[in-house]
Amino acid sequence: MDPLDAAVDQSRIFQDLDREMFIHDLRACPRRTIAHNEILIQPGQENQSVYFLIRGSLSIHLEKQNSPPIRIVYPGETVGELSIIASTYSSAYVISMEQAELVVIDQDLLWDFMEREPRIARNLLLVLSGWVITGNVKTGQQLRTLETLEGLARMDGLTGIYNRRSFDEMLQRFLDRSVRTKKNIALAILDVDFFKRYNDGHGHQAGDQALISLAKVLSDSLRPADFAARYGGEEFAFLLADTTLEAAAMIAERVRIAIMETKIISQNAEPLPGITVSIGLAISQPDSTAESLIGLADRNLYQAKQEGRNRCCILQK
Ligand code: GH3
Ligand code: MG
Ligand code: MG
Repeated sequence: MDPLDAAVDQSRIFQDLDREMFIHDLRACPRRTIAHNEILIQPGQENQSVYFLIRGSLSIHLEKQNSPPIRIVYPGETVGELSIIASTYSSAYVISMEQAELVVIDQDLLWDFMEREPRIARNLLLVLSGWVITGNVKTGQQLRTLETLEGLARMDGLTGIYNRRSFDEMLQRFLDRSVRTKKNIALAILDVDFFKRYNDGHGHQAGDQALISLAKVLSDSLRPADFAARYGGEEFAFLLADTTLEAAAMIAERVRIAIMETKIISQNAEPLPGITVSIGLAISQPDSTAESLIGLADRNLYQAKQEGRNRCCILQK
């Protein structure tokens, strides 16, 4: 028996149709045999024909020949129709998984089939829409993976609060908004006092626990509209919106005391000594930039260290 007949019986494109309408034309089409691992179609190739598989199997790969197949094609299925219908270059690799035999349907004959028998067009549409749906599901999954990765890229791995990259973005947003609302923002930079000594005395893991505790105090102390991040190493920062120098100084002082009073527990539940921080605070002016505000907070932080640490400095310069 001609494998063409069995393939037509299994085919979705030719289903529910009067065989006589097209079988003679199909029989008259050229056939092509391809060897195992031979490439039938590759991306960018101009495709003039639809291939109706009647024996063997093919795999379809995006991007690279050796990437995992997105679909396996069995007898009764076609490949290449998408590029013909969309009049575009093919976008994938089609490779034979074993020796395969195909009926080569010229694009003119395909259009002719569809004009003669609209049910072929309908069947083709059903097949294609199935792929679009599968494609959309895949795209949705990929987008969610991307969102997860992007989310991770914004967080600090150790403390779970936002990282420097997020801080830089958020500082600019706070500044932009303050220009619109004509209200000041505050930036505080915190640096752990004598932290090298803490690490040297109690071990790096103890130091890590201290940083985790500090980050938790920061998150717990601030309002949802405020923003806290790990600025780097043993330095943290927070932003306050719509604030005054007096209010910001009170909040910074409250945070400093909360950190000083926080009990730090080691990973095996032993109590560890507490830590203190020095804080440099800066309030925005109408012409403040991210650089100028960070510069001012940094100078104030340096001043707080100079004056003896475990304090908050708000000198404006
Ligand atoms: P100062 O009061 O002047 O700030 O003194 P300091 O010792 O805190 O300052 P220094 O910059 O000399 O030391 C900072 C230390 O912070 C050194 C570094 O090993 C430690 N550190 C930075 N990141 C981490 C971290 O993720 N975990 C731990 N355990 N330590 C860290
Ligand atoms: Mg430091
Ligand atoms: Mg320090």
